Amino acid sequence: MKAEAETVIAVSKNKYNVNKIREDFPILKKKVHDKNLVYLDNAATTQKPTYVIDKVNKYYTTMNANIHRGVHALSQEATEAFEAARIQIKQFINALGKNQIIFTRGTTEAINLVASSYGRANIKEGDEIIISHMEHHSNIVPWQLLCKEKNAKLRVIPVNDNGELIYEEFEKMVNERTKFISIVYVSNSLGTINPIKELISYAHQFNIPVLVDAAQAVNHIRVDVQDLDCDFLAFSGHKIYGPTGIGALYGKVELLESMPPYMGGGDMISKVTFEETTYNELPHKFEAGTPDIAGAIGLGAAIEYVNKVGIENIKEHEHSLLEYATKQIAEVPGLKIIGTAKEKTSVLSFVLENIHPHDIGTFLDFEGVAIRTGHHCTQPLMQRFKIPATSRASFAMYNTKEEVDVLVYGLKKIIEVFG
Ligand code: PMP
Repeated sequence: MKAEAETVIAVSKNKYNVNKIREDFPILKKKVHDKNLVYLDNAATTQKPTYVIDKVNKYYTTMNANIHRGVHALSQEATEAFEAARIQIKQFINALGKNQIIFTRGTTEAINLVASSYGRANIKEGDEIIISHMEHHSNIVPWQLLCKEKNAKLRVIPVNDNGELIYEEFEKMVNERTKFISIVYVSNSLGTINPIKELISYAHQFNIPVLVDAAQAVNHIRVDVQDLDCDFLAFSGHKIYGPTGIGALYGKVELLESMPPYMGGGDMISKVTFEETTYNELPHKFEAGTPDIAGAIGLGAAIEYVNKVGIENIKEHEHSLLEYATKQIAEVPGLKIIGTAKEKTSVLSFVLENIHPHDIGTFLDFEGVAIRTGHHCTQPLMQRFKIPATSRASFAMYNTKEEVDVLVYGLKKIIEVFG
């Protein structure tokens, strides 16, 4: 096992050393079909640095115990490590208090929590909920379920041909019936960065709460919940170099306090009798049952790692990769980029004339290149662009221009083979 100090810090005085960063991610040395792995499926999930793997390993090898309830040393150690991870998250997104950070299984569970708890308690017949045309299914279906149950209406902000929200349409859509807005910060299919702050500020003029799906934002750009003034924010650990099955929901205290529990069980209670139960304080009220303790510790470590590299450095590196890739890929005959927003990060979606994305994905796999092909859990967006699917290359802190060259070489080869 490498010493902790050795596993990080690949940025020295304005010099971003991507090769040093790559050394921290053991999987990147893997060969696929006898080729070097070129991992460009980061919007689906990111790879994990040794720093995170070691922390999870260390938890299981030296401190595994259930948290919060034990008086013994091991339980206290595990509780401390778990709660330290909550503080890492709080600081990372600049929340005021650690009681505003609720551990969930990921973005999907966080959105479902708000739709079920806040939504059921507050949305009534005839109310309207606004989402956008570029939402991930996990920010569509929970609201659709709620609207069905309550006889409320789901309204959708349209997207222009570049893959940007048509902001004027959003403003026109807001009325006295609008009771909630749930919106993606960065689109996983297009890479578009939405004008979230402006949208929240407009919504707040009418006292409408806003949830931000930050699944594709926290790993690419600085997210500050106080600056955004969002009411809720959700993200997943596995997209920010942390483990799968863990994520977080941020919420404003007054909203979280007013909401009924999402799930019942151990840890979320204060006192239980058969007649009545009183609930634990925040954040525990929303954390029923034994959580993914190792996952939370791993997520805390991932955030530490990101902090050490620096989110601004990551953003800059990924931006230069995206610019380079956009330029290089334009040389591929018959290729059309889907998603050409002015404000964009880390995602390059495209279609190739007469070649199905699945064939592209399979062909590239034999070159060692992992990209994602399909609808990316955004079927309505695919319908909007009148395409069944796209091929999507998505970048992370450890990708290189040389890897982009391998992708472009592969694409040119596909054109030759498929004519
Ligand atoms: N929203 C967006 C924008 C996403 O990219 C994803 C994951 N692809 C999700 C939500 C859902 O995240 P998870 O599956 O980790 O809950």
